[in-house]
Amino acid sequence: ETFTNFRLSRPVLKAIADMGYNKPTPIQTRSIPLALQAHDLCVSAQTGSGKTLAFLIPMIERLLYRPKATPTIRILILVPTRELGVQCHSVATKLSKYTDITWSLCVGGLSTKTQELELRTRPDGVIATPGRLIDHIRNSQGFSLDGIEILVIDEADRILEDGFADELDEIIKSTPRARQSMLFSATMTDKIEDLTKLSLTRPIRLFV
Ligand code: AMP
Repeated sequence: ETFTNFRLSRPVLKAIADMGYNKPTPIQTRSIPLALQAHDLCVSAQTGSGKTLAFLIPMIERLLYRPKATPTIRILILVPTRELGVQCHSVATKLSKYTDITWSLCVGGLSTKTQELELRTRPDGVIATPGRLIDHIRNSQGFSLDGIEILVIDEADRILEDGFADELDEIIKSTPRARQSMLFSATMTDKIEDLTKLSLTRPIRLFV
């Protein structure tokens, strides 16, 4: 199995090759085709499984299928920590380097004002921790998640452990109902099940 089997676009295949990946990991083999078909996914997977590329590759492809004339935030990736956000942003940027897709990082520890200005340029994708994103939803003039087409909740169990359940609720409700969503979690607890019901529509479940 190689990445060419997924019928990805040339810019994405070229970026994957630059990053030195030849063979998809098991989670990538299973999620990429389903996510490309716009299915909602509920994936139990650990860090190290290759889950970042498993959601980033199909997301970028889906943006490329339907370019937008007016800039708007189309992708939202929620992560539990600043470190994970930084990592995810770096992979997303590398993976879209042959496209004109833009990314913005919205996590604590960075200036809110600078972030606000960056968000006003309407990047295609935003990678955010729930706490900082809520700040922008509540306080940044004109900030809106109305254009979100794809939502990813990464390491959902850690986000809930950190006590961000209410923020997650509010964020999910600020995005359009007609969106694709993917949830990743190392563990599947009752609380994750509740979150699944709130955030996913007829999800396909993958255990990797
Ligand atoms: P993740 O689970 O997304 O945190 O990824 C864990 C590690 O696996 C990262 O360091 C990636 O660079 C690496 N990785 C992801 N996909 C592949 C792949 N298809 N082949 C080899 N390494 C990969």
